[in-house]
Amino acid sequence: MMKYAIPPFEQVSIAIEGSDDRFPVRRIYCVGRNYRAHAIEMGADPDRDPPFFFMKPADAIVENGATIPYPPQTENLHHEIELVAAIGAGGADISVADALNHVWGYGVGIDLTRRDIQNKAKEMGRPWDMGKGFDQSAPCTALHPVSEVGHPDTEESRSIWIKVNGKIRQESTLDHHIWSTAETISYLSGLVTLQAGDLIYMGTPDGVAAVMSGDKMEGHIDGVDDLVVTIA
Ligand code: MN
Repeated sequence: MMKYAIPPFEQVSIAIEGSDDRFPVRRIYCVGRNYRAHAIEMGADPDRDPPFFFMKPADAIVENGATIPYPPQTENLHHEIELVAAIGAGGADISVADALNHVWGYGVGIDLTRRDIQNKAKEMGRPWDMGKGFDQSAPCTALHPVSEVGHPDTEESRSIWIKVNGKIRQESTLDHHIWSTAETISYLSGLVTLQAGDLIYMGTPDGVAAVMSGDKMEGHIDGVDDLVVTIA
C-alpha cells in the first residue's frame, strides 16, 4: 500500500441526481466567450475567435444550496451561468460525430469570476487563473445522466437564466452556443486527452454582472436543474 508523507487529499466529487453514487471530478475546463452577445460585451469579435479554454481546480466545486464567502482580493465578483457537461469516457482527437458518446451527463453551473482581477490580467497579458480559478469558484448542481436529460444544447430553445435576489440578470437559450458541446469536446480533445471525471463549463450568455454579500443566485436550465447559491 502507498504511504504518503502527508495525509492524501480527498477525491473531489459531485452529487448525482437520484443516486447515492458520487461523480468524481478530475479537471474543470471552461470555454471562453461561447455566446455572441457575451463575446461582444467583453470586447471580442465572436466571428473570428476560435474556442479557447481556461481551467479551474477540481476542488473549486461548490454543491447546490451552499452558502459561500465573498472571495478575497476582489470588488467585482461576477456570475456566469453555464451548462456543465460531464465526461464519462475519455479520449484524444475525438470527432464531432462521436463527441456526445463521451458525455456522461449534465448539470447547471456558475463560473464565478473576479472580474477586476481578470480584467487586470487581460490588460497586462497575464494568465486568468487568479480571476477564474479561486476557491469555491465553481458552483454546480447534481449531475443528471444523458439517459434522463438528453443533450440539452442539441435541442431548440432550451432556456438558461440566472436571477439574483429574484431579478433576471442573464437569459438566453442553449442553441445560442457558438461552439456546441460536441464541437467543444472535439476541439478540446485535440489539445489535451480528456478523461472520465472531467467537467466542461460551456460558456455564458450576456448580462454578466456583480454580486454582493448577502445576494442569492438562482440559476436554471430547462430540463436539467435549478442551482441556488448564496453569498454570505
Ligand atoms: Mn464563463
